[in-house]
Amino acid sequence: MKIQEADAKSLLVTQGLPVPAWELARTPGEVKAAAQRFFDAGNAKVVIKAQVLVGGRGKAGGVKLAASADEATEVGSRILGMDIKGITVRKVIVGGAVDIVKEYYLGVIIDRATRRIVLMASAEGGVEIEEVARANPGAIHRVSADPQLGLLAFQARGLGLAVGLRDSLLTQFVAIAQGLYATMKANDADLVEINPLAVVAGTAAGGSATQQLVCLDAKITLDDSGLARHPALESLRDSDEEDPTDARARKLGINFIRLDGTIGCMVNGAGLAMTTMDLVKHYGGEPANFLDVGGGARHETVRGAIELILDDPNVKAILVNIFGGITRGDEVAAGLIEARSSQSREVPMVVRIVGTNAEEAARLLREAHLETATSLDEAAEKAVALAKGATR
Ligand code: GDP
Ligand code: MN
Repeated sequence: MKIQEADAKSLLVTQGLPVPAWELARTPGEVKAAAQRFFDAGNAKVVIKAQVLVGGRGKAGGVKLAASADEATEVGSRILGMDIKGITVRKVIVGGAVDIVKEYYLGVIIDRATRRIVLMASAEGGVEIEEVARANPGAIHRVSADPQLGLLAFQARGLGLAVGLRDSLLTQFVAIAQGLYATMKANDADLVEINPLAVVAGTAAGGSATQQLVCLDAKITLDDSGLARHPALESLRDSDEEDPTDARARKLGINFIRLDGTIGCMVNGAGLAMTTMDLVKHYGGEPANFLDVGGGARHETVRGAIELILDDPNVKAILVNIFGGITRGDEVAAGLIEARSSQSREVPMVVRIVGTNAEEAARLLREAHLETATSLDEAAEKAVALAKGATR
């Protein structure tokens, strides 16, 4: 689950990370009032940033500075309602603008190959990291946290040194890197990314010039499977921007991931779903989705799953593969028959149900004239043929 910058920044603040203050605004009037507070607090400029769950807002015109409350109102009314990569901007953050000296990149991700949490840093911040990875991969430095000990200070220091930080900025970097690691762990995040992590110029109490590292932008993706452990984070879901298909799947308790093939797959169990997709590919087809209805699915869930599959116009055939344990075959068959009677369009379907109540399922399917298969190989092969429009 992606969360908005403002919410990501709140999670960073909880871990004690340096984030410039901000306020959320939904109308030009709110922008004006917030901007006025920042000017009253001594800021010479304010920054106004679109809150949408896509990157590259700056380039798209969704990040602007303003030097007066009136200018902020005008900029705010231009950004609110703006379309950024197909998403309408409904809210912005308003904050005191900082004086940027240099922009760095710092991200924390899970590296599935090494099964570790990896920190990545680059002195080429502010631009999209994918672009840096493509044009200048050597500019990205990495370090893996220890699964038991976490991210040790010397590791963070090594990363900071690699991107060219020294002295006080290096010390600040170590605290930030460890804070990002802590944010990742505390919230079961998949990704915590600060781009830019900026060196900003300031003045100390005595009037001397200072430099500080601050998190100017924040992107956090939470692990959906970890959300059950953090009920409070559920409120950060932005339903305005959630894909409607994803929202329906989530409400049905179905694990659903859209792919670009033509064979819709409905399976119980993640491992079986992967095997099913492998066999579809083995017989020359392409799966249109990954779909795991979970254990013990009732007929309503099965019907909902078929509806989700049929919503994808690329689907040319459906392959149902159920290994009944706690899932009852007859219950699945009933759901399929219900779906058939109310479905939005005609798509051929092959059903393989084995295990609990398979005989009852077979009888129901036969009476409803649904195409069945006994082995998974046979089912996959038939589905691929049907998707290619072959006659049986
Ligand atoms: P993104 O384009 O969606 O990644 O949005 P960012 O929050 O990263 O903002 C884009 C760029 O705007 C940053 O890389 C900065 O260069 C600039 N920016 C953001 N906040 C400030 C600020 O307070 N002061 C100044 N001068 N520039 C800012
Ligand atoms: Mn950014």
